[in-house]
Amino acid sequence: MNFTDFLSKIQYKFTDEEEQLLQKAFDFAKKAHAGQIRFSGEDYFEHPVEAAIILADILPSAPTVAATLLHDVPEDTKITLDEIRKEFGEEIASLVDGVTKLGKVRLRNSKDQYYVENLRKMFIATSKDIRVILIKLADRLHNMRTLQFVRKEKQKRIAEETLEIFAPIASRLGIGEWKDELEDLSFQIVFPEEFKKTEALLKNALHGRDKALKKLQKNVAEILRTEGVKFEDLQGRVKRVYSLHKKLDKYGGDIHKIYDLVALRVITKSTVDCYSALGAIHKHLQLLPGRVKDFIALPKSNGYKSIHTTVFDNHKNIFEIQIRTEQMHDEAEKGIAAHWYYEEGDKADKLQKMRVQWVQDLHDMQNQMNNPEEFLNALKIDFFQKRIFVLTPKGDVRDLPEGATPIDFAFSIHSNLGFYMQGVKVNGKMVKIDHALKSGDVVEIIKSKKPVTISNDWLKQAKTSNARSKIRHYLEEHQTGIFNSLKKLINRK
Ligand code: MN
Repeated sequence: MNFTDFLSKIQYKFTDEEEQLLQKAFDFAKKAHAGQIRFSGEDYFEHPVEAAIILADILPSAPTVAATLLHDVPEDTKITLDEIRKEFGEEIASLVDGVTKLGKVRLRNSKDQYYVENLRKMFIATSKDIRVILIKLADRLHNMRTLQFVRKEKQKRIAEETLEIFAPIASRLGIGEWKDELEDLSFQIVFPEEFKKTEALLKNALHGRDKALKKLQKNVAEILRTEGVKFEDLQGRVKRVYSLHKKLDKYGGDIHKIYDLVALRVITKSTVDCYSALGAIHKHLQLLPGRVKDFIALPKSNGYKSIHTTVFDNHKNIFEIQIRTEQMHDEAEKGIAAHWYYEEGDKADKLQKMRVQWVQDLHDMQNQMNNPEEFLNALKIDFFQKRIFVLTPKGDVRDLPEGATPIDFAFSIHSNLGFYMQGVKVNGKMVKIDHALKSGDVVEIIKSKKPVTISNDWLKQAKTSNARSKIRHYLEEHQTGIFNSLKKLINRK
């Protein structure tokens, strides 16, 4: 793909200056990846380009799109992060760096619930900048779209990771568009049999429904016009396979209990029009009792807003109707990134607001949660913001309190590793053992053959109670040991 084609695939109109930046990043990444081929047989460079197009669809901020074009350069080419920093400045370099660090995390032992939760939190904590997560999600979405070219076992691992880590993050950020696609793409790889079964069930249940939906659409348009309710658009939507699968689980597998297989979306300009539309629809169509949900007055925990109601058409088919404004619709698809469009003011300012909003959203989540488990999880996120997440060279995650040192890290891996710690490398460079670790650091302990001598200083340099109690124990024993030998010496006389 050349640069003109790339730009033409992005809806947003960039300024000349922004276009120049994008062109520069495009050419730079193309040159860096030259000669590299993907599993699919196409040029590697097609991957960052496609990821950048995906990202630009929800967040057309030039530095973020540029960073997406560059996101695999430090990891997969000879060009270093420093060179990117020199060419593109600190903002873009730190985005690329954040994405590179997230890429080092590997999911193993996915059965361990605590581990999975930890990974999700690490994403959130390491990415002080929400844009890093958005780039990572765009990267993953493109990898999922092209997963058929990868080895079978690797497909499964990546799809599991997507289902357990990436899709829930997209959901938490309210990016429905990405969440839905990530879920369906990974569902069919992780659980192929269930996918086929659910898909067939859905197809069967939808038989003849598209005609009925068209009729309902016409009918609702007429109702709204008759009642003088203004609306912008009426759209049909069919339930996604994975979403249906989850709901079937909840309703004992009975598809007849699921009323939102097909939904009609009424899109309006204003919130007041949403309520007028609801009134008009209830006046003319028979509704299913107990199914009116006002997520405008009480939004879902991820910020989702809409009014849902369930009605019968004239042939006793059941449909869900979802009523929302254009902005609510955009927010449901693009989540947090929609703030980019709706906040007034200059762009840097909007991004700043987006970041503030992200923190705010986390806090709001806690207030809106009814389910105690969900509430606890949200609290944990807050708690974990005071924690750092560091990685072993193999990509395992350790969470430690802020200010933790390699001593804490070593003892958290294995009690004996601390006693044999000769030196430590952080991100490939030697550092002192009391070096303050940061989220995303890759920490490698260099072991000696014999136990090292531990001084009293270690007690001050360790921050975790785990490391300190082990050191204290060692010091006591060590001192007692000397004392005992002295006693023996004296007793010999
Ligand atoms: Mn990538």
